[in-house]
Amino acid sequence: MPIYEYECKPCGARFSKLVMTISNPPQVDCPKCGGGEVEKLISRVRYHRSESDRLSELDTSKPRDESFYKDSRNVGLWAKKRAKDLGADLGSEFDEVVDKARSGEILEDL
Ligand SMILES: [Zn+2]
Repeated sequence: MPIYEYECKPCGARFSKLVMTISNPPQVDCPKCGGGEVEKLISRVRYHRSESDRLSELDTSKPRDESFYKDSRNVGLWAKKRAKDLGADLGSEFDEVVDKARSGEILEDL
């Protein structure tokens, strides 16, 4: 699903919004001032890849390079993939830990 960047004309605020359908764009209001006079910044469109996409592309038989670790979204992905391959269920508790690690919270706990 595409995420569009918008700029509010009256107040200049920039924000992004996940758009479900491209053919029927929703009315977008500025989250800062509530105005509806926003401009879509087409050049900033990017596609959000789901975790399942990342999981299916992840090859656990290959060594990971440094950039893998630098992407916080990959935190826990390796463990999840391995667990999936082994048919193990890590449960919702694991997801919580991963979410924490991704947001950086876990570092503060240590
Ligand atoms: Zn605004």
